[in-house]
Amino acid sequence: MARHSGELELPLDVRRRAEGPAGSTVVVEAVLAALPSPTLLLDAEGTVLLANTAWVKAADVLGDDRVRIGVDGDYFAMVRRLDGQSAAALVEQLRALSRGECASVQADQPIELRDGTRWVHVQASRVDRAGQVVVTHTDVTSRVAAERASDWRARHDTLTELPNRAHLHELIDAALQLPDRGPVSVLFLDVDGFKDVNDSLGHDAGDDLLRQVARRLTGSTRVDDTVGRLGGDEFVILCRDCSTDGAQALADRCRASIDRPFDLGGRLVRLGVSIGIATAPESGAVAVRSADLVRDADLAMYAAKAAGRNRVRLFTADLRSAAQRKATFAAELREAILDEQLVLHYQPILHLPSGRCTGVEALVRWQHSTRGLLLPGEFLPTAAQHDLMTAIARWVLRSATRQTAAWSRAGLHLVTSVNISASHFSTGTLVRDVHEALAEAGLPPEQLVIELTETSVAEDAQRAAAQFAELRRSGVEVSIDDFGSGFSSLGQLVSMPTGILKIDRSLVAFPEGRRSEAAAAIAAVVALGRACGVRSLAEGVETAEQLELAEQLGCTFAQGFTVARPMPADQLAAWAAEHAEQLLAGALR
Ligand code: C2E
Ligand code: MG
Ligand code: MG
Repeated sequence: MARHSGELELPLDVRRRAEGPAGSTVVVEAVLAALPSPTLLLDAEGTVLLANTAWVKAADVLGDDRVRIGVDGDYFAMVRRLDGQSAAALVEQLRALSRGECASVQADQPIELRDGTRWVHVQASRVDRAGQVVVTHTDVTSRVAAERASDWRARHDTLTELPNRAHLHELIDAALQLPDRGPVSVLFLDVDGFKDVNDSLGHDAGDDLLRQVARRLTGSTRVDDTVGRLGGDEFVILCRDCSTDGAQALADRCRASIDRPFDLGGRLVRLGVSIGIATAPESGAVAVRSADLVRDADLAMYAAKAAGRNRVRLFTADLRSAAQRKATFAAELREAILDEQLVLHYQPILHLPSGRCTGVEALVRWQHSTRGLLLPGEFLPTAAQHDLMTAIARWVLRSATRQTAAWSRAGLHLVTSVNISASHFSTGTLVRDVHEALAEAGLPPEQLVIELTETSVAEDAQRAAAQFAELRRSGVEVSIDDFGSGFSSLGQLVSMPTGILKIDRSLVAFPEGRRSEAAAAIAAVVALGRACGVRSLAEGVETAEQLELAEQLGCTFAQGFTVARPMPADQLAAWAAEHAEQLLAGALR
């Protein structure tokens, strides 16, 4: 029964009819009864003045005595029994509402029941000056569950269920911002050899492996540490209250855990892990951000990898200055590509049966404003790290085809080879880039050869084969560079649609007294090529003896310092005119 017959503000109709001493409770009861949501009318102290039928039924459905209160019961005490901070806050909000300090209250309140958490949306409005409050309750468990699931998915990696990149940064920033905190360490881990497994055993095996790695890393950490996955085979561990020594010890445990063989459906696979560590000292004057700490750990990881993989390296300031120098160098290189600071030198290729220079290889150089002429080995690694290889290749393709067409117009008919990097294959634009360059220069496709190194071919053999075939169908020749320098599968290489094998310098330039071994190796490649209808080219021919050997063993082409060094385009025509006859008649015969 109602103790107060206050003035109801809502609904107006009810207020008017509720004014009569006898009718008020009846009308309000009738209105509440008609409401489908469990609803209560409370006084300022939280005592239940009215409870509708839906409320009584809901308590039955929940089957929990904590929520089974009726008229004269204490709603505030009941809410407090639902434990948790949000329950206490809700009571305070309802009191403030009753005092007229706010217009309404809306809150999602969890109720822990035996069969799990139920979420109730509580909506309350003040109904009169005496501080009465109407509270309605809606079960929003499925809505909250969906929101929580999608929130969880946004913060976690679906494969390993570990925190993802964004969430890791949130967690690290939160750990760094704690007042009076101890040192915070971050481990950046990159699995060595993961790509090989993924490529050779397939993506399902790769996924399985990443889940196993995640479990092992988690098993190596303390309860206060957080393991997350940045993506690919990169993981990060956040270690709260952990000095460099502690982080080093954890890194050693992680390395030992990854060192044990992994079982992939009965196949045993061995991996390593490169780990970089960065530590923010206990809270001091300088605020550290997660982005900085993770970047430092990443730099240390790179240094660990560069030192020979499966190692641990601590971050030091010199790593950052080296990285800054590299970043400046990369920015300069980006400018250089647009600014035409790249130049091509051309190295003659000798056709051994005729003794004529029938082609050239275009080799890129960078005319640096302060450092002079830089060789590819001095800037291509930076280009590769900063995704500039395709931009360089497009420039090289355009310049080399234009130059070759110009030579043709001047009566010098040459076939020009251009080097392409493996990353160009993955962009999927190689064939289009080649055809665009040919069309722009007006060069027939037969005057262009695309070179890809043996190791690059092996990186993604299927994609290489498809694009090689397409290039060859259009008339562009394809050659495999540095053949014999890597450890690629011969089977894979011979099945490539290719027209030329460039025998690596390491096989051609034999040391003193090893002529017969070198001859055997070259003869084997030449025979392999012949069997597959592929011509061979001896690279890095430095002496007359090596040149003679290449010819005797049946190589179709030779290229090397003894023939000519790479030279600027404007010197090539003169060189060709001067040497053609000489070469034909010279040391080869
Ligand atoms: P590569 O394609 O195998 O080119 C041959 C390299 O061997 C050239 O070095 C050339 O100068 C050098 N060489 C030629 N004959 C001899 C010799 O008799 N003895 C010795 N010791 N070396 C000789 P370079 O120009 O420094 O180029 C190195 C590598 O850089 C090239 O090897 C190629 O893989 C890469 N490269 C060059 N230009 C480009 C380019 O435009 N794009 C791409 N992606 N890579 C390029
Ligand atoms: Mg080459
Ligand atoms: Mg080569």
